[in-house]
Amino acid sequence: MTLGEVDMDDGTLPRIVVERLRDGTSGFELYTTRVAHESASSDGSTTKLIVELQDGHKIEACVMRHAKGRTTLCVSSQVGCKMGCTFCATGTLGELGNLASFEILEQLAHANRVAAVRNVVFMGMGEPLNNYDSVIEAIGVMTDDKAFALSASKITVSTVGVIPRMRTLTRDAPGTCLALSLHAPTQELRQKIVPTATAYKLDDLMRVLEEYLASGPKMKTMIEYCVLGGVNDDETCAEKLGELFRGKEEKIILNLIPLNPTDTPAGHVPPTPEAVRKMMEILMKKYGLFVTRRHTMGDDIAGACGQLALKTPGDPDMEDMMAPRRTTSAAKVRRAPPREERTSPTLVEASQPSSSSRAQRTEYALIGVSVLSAGMLAYALYSRRR
Ligand code: SF4
Repeated sequence: MTLGEVDMDDGTLPRIVVERLRDGTSGFELYTTRVAHESASSDGSTTKLIVELQDGHKIEACVMRHAKGRTTLCVSSQVGCKMGCTFCATGTLGELGNLASFEILEQLAHANRVAAVRNVVFMGMGEPLNNYDSVIEAIGVMTDDKAFALSASKITVSTVGVIPRMRTLTRDAPGTCLALSLHAPTQELRQKIVPTATAYKLDDLMRVLEEYLASGPKMKTMIEYCVLGGVNDDETCAEKLGELFRGKEEKIILNLIPLNPTDTPAGHVPPTPEAVRKMMEILMKKYGLFVTRRHTMGDDIAGACGQLALKTPGDPDMEDMMAPRRTTSAAKVRRAPPREERTSPTLVEASQPSSSSRAQRTEYALIGVSVLSAGMLAYALYSRRR
């Protein structure tokens, strides 16, 4: 949609404003971002959008069309990422900045031009829970009936394990699904793959996961496990993984993601198909877990993040599988990290936002998406005074 195509004929705006918006002399634009490049995978199921932000930084969003006609959008939440997972190309960039909520939303708007998006997963560039406020604001608008009207249960936030934010997510984005990128069954091994595991211990992570699963009778979660050849792909790892989730068989979807080769200093290699098959066999037959193997695709268009693995059309629609099956109810944009993160080189316990601050964030989100309308009204007032 262009600005000229926006329906402005309901009498809300003065005629002169509508005319200027339509003829391009208003100085306003519909988007702060633009699609710098668009590429489709050879089988046509996936479209990658390179989105350029106002300041020239680029991020990626992937539109994945499933065989049954549903479409999932994988959005980025940051430019780069500071979590430094050793298999991830994005992690080598460091954290260059947070996306504003409207920049996350504009990925959805651009994607809707490719196909009508029904599911959104925060699995692109960045750790979404390190850009918490913008992600919560964006989810608020995505699920707003007057905006994108997506179901909260169709939105998945994937984290590598930012414990304080995992605790507040169910409160601040009710009905949204949480996915955990685990990648290792023990604290010792996890620290080698996910450096931030030193701050957020596996025991604590499992505790907060239990809290999440206990927050509703039908809550499920997806555990993502990037399988690295010779690192976390042996039978011992499979056994320990099975033990870790003993008793949670009904609530866990374990998603094994064979490494999508990336050029990172750690030099990880993909696992052999036999190693992955053996892991699946142990986890499913001995431990009764529901396990999927995510087929990577998009070699021809490249993935956004070491963690981002594009599904083939025949794969199960993971976001649907773990949905709790209940309905619930232009400025410079590289913002500084939240204050509590600036005070420490590592992540710190998040302060609990008050209900008034949450209300304020919701207000800001609505202001953000209404900025064009506000500008137009200001222009109208200015015209009248003249
Ligand atoms: S896998 Fe995700 S959390 Fe880890 S470095 Fe990459 S983008 Fe960040």
